[in-house]
Amino acid sequence: MKMPAVRYQSGDMVMGRWPGSNLYYEVKVLDFDAKSGLYTVIYKDGTELELKEPDIKNASGFQTRSRSRSRSPGRRRSLSRSPARTTRRSSSRTAAAAAASGGATPVTDDVTSSRRDTRLKDALEIRLSPLKCEAAVEAGPDKIQGRYNLRRRKDDGDAKPQRPEEKDAKTAAAAPPTTPLDFGGKIGAFFWLLFLPAWVLFLVLQVNLEDPSLTNFPPPLPPLDAFWDPRALGFVVLWILFQVLLYLLPVGKLSEGVPLRSGQRLKYRTNGFWAVAASALAVAAAVHRGVDLTYIYSHFLQLATASLLVAVLLSVYLYGRSRYAAGEQLALGGSSGNVAYDFFKGRELNPRIKEFDLKFFCEMRPGLIGWCLINFALALAEMKLQRLDAPSYAMILVNLFQLLYVVDGLWNEEAILTTMDLMHDGFGFMLAFGDLVWVPFTYTLQAYYLVGHPNQLSLPAVAAIVTLKLVGFYIFRKSNSEKNAFRRNPSDPKLSHLQTIPTATGKSLLVSGWWGTVRHPNYLGDLLMALAWSLPCGFSHLLPWYYMIYFIVLLVHRDARDMSECRRKYGSAWDEYCRTVRYRIIPGLY
Ligand code: NDP
Repeated sequence: MKMPAVRYQSGDMVMGRWPGSNLYYEVKVLDFDAKSGLYTVIYKDGTELELKEPDIKNASGFQTRSRSRSRSPGRRRSLSRSPARTTRRSSSRTAAAAAASGGATPVTDDVTSSRRDTRLKDALEIRLSPLKCEAAVEAGPDKIQGRYNLRRRKDDGDAKPQRPEEKDAKTAAAAPPTTPLDFGGKIGAFFWLLFLPAWVLFLVLQVNLEDPSLTNFPPPLPPLDAFWDPRALGFVVLWILFQVLLYLLPVGKLSEGVPLRSGQRLKYRTNGFWAVAASALAVAAAVHRGVDLTYIYSHFLQLATASLLVAVLLSVYLYGRSRYAAGEQLALGGSSGNVAYDFFKGRELNPRIKEFDLKFFCEMRPGLIGWCLINFALALAEMKLQRLDAPSYAMILVNLFQLLYVVDGLWNEEAILTTMDLMHDGFGFMLAFGDLVWVPFTYTLQAYYLVGHPNQLSLPAVAAIVTLKLVGFYIFRKSNSEKNAFRRNPSDPKLSHLQTIPTATGKSLLVSGWWGTVRHPNYLGDLLMALAWSLPCGFSHLLPWYYMIYFIVLLVHRDARDMSECRRKYGSAWDEYCRTVRYRIIPGLY
């Protein structure tokens, strides 16, 4: 059998054609497979492709275009501003290629440009529609039968399947490439580890004061034994076990998470709505049988301490088990090698005990449903303490608004699978503490405040606050659902009206619809809702506004974290998105 002649040698610097375009970039030849006749080449950003010989040219055969004729990013952008969809698509495709080239200026092959149409037809099945393009790439390299064979990018982590015997202790602990340190780095993480628990306990003590003004901060510390009640720990553990039981019931849908670096997609039991409904029934039955839920009000501090203890123990377990996890199971951001930082940030992305997903469970169940239970108990406490026949308007609004938030989150539980927490963050102290302590004991401060500090609301005020809440909720739900639907099925016909920018990773970015108004429309909706939660408490104290202030800080920081993460992932395609969608959260302002 005649072997194909090898025209280019390993190490040669040549010009390689970018899939689906007529643009050539400087690439290095890595390898030649005589069987398939394909050259493996590497682009400047680390993208590896397999190209056929006709798609490779000697660098000397190329003319770099003069600047005035070149398709510089600036020029492409001004063209792409046209509302015409085809223009957006072609510019986007070039942007994706530019991303993969590491920003290198592409050149077109003058000889072949006249044959562009014919050549594009038989190129890889990446077609003009960005939605289809994403579907083709997400189908995986195996399914892409054509001129090109896409390989993983250098920084996508090691996705090669490992034989079990290869996962010895040494390789298991091997860290994947890590992202820049966050939260003030190693010293910052140490600070947050001490500060956050202390802060929650201080807030709980402060809201218990008759006058919780800033001038009375910090509140006097009670004796140490006031923080501890073994019964409170028992209740917390029982509550968590009850939620575990509900989670494990084979009721509700099994949803697939987004593909992991290994290509695997985990399954999640998304039966949160049934869990909250069953919890409500159990609580109603308990109250009917005479259980006094105002215990939660009178033992708020002890319950918070007990939850903190559970969160710390869980974090220690998570950190310990992450030492034995394979590199590909670790989050990109939690492998700095510094114990305090990694303990805080979380190392393992999806720690599971068999099918039981610890992160997903903690994110959605005990804390979130516990938040509603605590709010309800605080409404009962308000009636008891203020001798009311029914809770006040303010208390009803706070209860209903937050209940809607939680029930909606659980009804759309699948949507959490495409959020930062689930996709990117490791499970460590930050999330365990956030889920089990921060959410149930600081998000309930407004209801707690109202127990001792009544605030009369007129009916027009109630109507205005309800309207604000509904507007915020509409923006929040619509934008989250749009992105979730797009990430789950980019070819969904219901989304075909949306414009997108493809990226070198194979995923696309929405650039119209909700995600074309601001870069985080979901944060905008969430902030409007937060405002509606604080307003019923009036303006006498800052404390009930604490959530609003904290949430602005959280979301501004979260937006910055997400921006740098997306910049790292998507390169110049992300820059193009940011140039097109100028504002982060509030249109025209921020
Ligand atoms: P997002 O749901 O906004 O997810 C961010 C990710 O979405 C990015 O990393 C990127 O991931 C993807 N993305 C970004 N831009 C685009 C685009 N244009 N097109 C397609 N995909 C895009 O982030 P969060 O997880 O922070 O928030 C989820 C919800 O939870 C929000 O509504 C937020 O307000 C809420 N939240 C509430 C909190 C609370 O305490 N009440 C706390 C934190 C969040 P990729 O490209 O990899 O898919």
